[in-house]
Amino acid sequence: MERHYSPFDPHAFPAHVRDYLIPEYAGDCVYECIACAYSCPLDRFLYTCPACGSLLKITDRSFDELKKIPGPVWRDIFDYRTLLRIEALQGIFLFKELLFPAIPLQDVIYLGEGHTALVRANTQLARYAGSEFFIKNDGFNPSASFKDRGMASAVSFINYSIRTRGLSEVLGICASTGDTSAAAALYLSYLDSSIVKSVVLLPKGKVTPQQLAQPLGSGAVVLEIPGVFDDCMRIVEQLAETYHVCLLNSKNPVRIMGQKSYAYEVARQLGYKTDDLTVVVPVGNAGNITAIMEGFLDMHRLGIIEDLPHILAVQSRHANPVALWRSSGEYAPVPVRPSVAQAAMIGDPVSFPKVRALVASDFDDRFACIDVEEQEIIEGMLQANRCGSVVCTQGGESIAGLRRALASGIVSPERTFVVDSTSHQLKFSNFQQMFFENTFPPEYEITPRSGFVNAPVQLAASAGAVADYLGLKKK
Ligand SMILES: *Cc1c(COP(=O)(O)O)cnc(C)c1O
Ligand SMILES: [Zn+2]
Repeated sequence: MERHYSPFDPHAFPAHVRDYLIPEYAGDCVYECIACAYSCPLDRFLYTCPACGSLLKITDRSFDELKKIPGPVWRDIFDYRTLLRIEALQGIFLFKELLFPAIPLQDVIYLGEGHTALVRANTQLARYAGSEFFIKNDGFNPSASFKDRGMASAVSFINYSIRTRGLSEVLGICASTGDTSAAAALYLSYLDSSIVKSVVLLPKGKVTPQQLAQPLGSGAVVLEIPGVFDDCMRIVEQLAETYHVCLLNSKNPVRIMGQKSYAYEVARQLGYKTDDLTVVVPVGNAGNITAIMEGFLDMHRLGIIEDLPHILAVQSRHANPVALWRSSGEYAPVPVRPSVAQAAMIGDPVSFPKVRALVASDFDDRFACIDVEEQEIIEGMLQANRCGSVVCTQGGESIAGLRRALASGIVSPERTFVVDSTSHQLKFSNFQQMFFENTFPPEYEITPRSGFVNAPVQLAASAGAVADYLGLKKK
């Protein structure tokens, strides 16, 4: 059943977009290995190349057909499409032809993801960073992180697979630094619970209480494993190779498809002017930065944007394999140390080979990666949140990265900056509290500074007590 809120009248729209508003293009999508010539249809769940074990991507082999529509017409199609009252097109599938054309509209799961706000940093925050910038806040997604973008495409694909392959049992599984499990549990819980179950593996004590509450609340089986994310990831990778489970980590290329929407939205929100754009992205498992680069490439190939933006990747010094690779030329996994940017605390990013390939092919002179101190990360977050934002620690990491890159001259303040705040402030309020109460264990290397500290004040229940405390003057 195609779900329309009300009938569609094509004649209400200009002739040049009319025929394209309801996307009929299904493309010719296949899994393709990033290292060898292996490719196969999307008629199964697959995460690594059966021939050589490398990562897979999803390629639309008829993508060039989309070039028949000029870039400016595509822009109009997306704009006018927002006026349609079709559920499946309300979220990230607004960009269906570029995003993941293989999924029919009837199978799209929409829970309110995407189209997150692009908010201009106020004067004080811009002065702090060293340039004007925008925050694109992906905390405004249903489970309060960007992972919902990838989960919308992955779970739509599961929904499509259940219908077309007649599956009677699907066990969705993921390892998580907190937000993948929140998103997976949420999206899977929307499907038929007699068919679909969800299981999440979390490193014990290394997700925030809010992030733990999310999959529990969605009814997932929550498994706490000793160790860090990389340990959980190894377990689910083995399970996915050996058993009938559906892996929902970004190693699954269907996740990447949905996460490309971040790039499409940034371009659209900036009126497709990307010639001086730098997008600042925190990097953990490197799925998101892969998706963002691929998304901009899609738009560039279709002439929807004329220029590829620059990418500034940011990592904590406590989990910085990509920054070390960029500065030394050599890649090696690193042991991680405790980080307030805990959702990005990953020593061996699964999608690193994709990043390396994208940088080599298209982003070489457009890709920088910088690492920052824990102190800078938490202060970046606290400063932003004192200036009308609701950024998480990873958003703080992005701001800290921009600030450092500007101070060291790696980027010019003349550019347009979009900083990715990947989740919502509230998911990480425990770290704010540790800062306020000076309870960080020494390995975080964070010392509270009084300017940022705040605490509730206890007063008697009277107007007089409040007036005295505030020093109010009588009228
Ligand atoms: C997952 C996550 C990241 C890291 O994204 P990757 O795709 O793993 O690089 C950053 N911030 C938040 C809030 C996340 O949940
Ligand atoms: Zn291969």
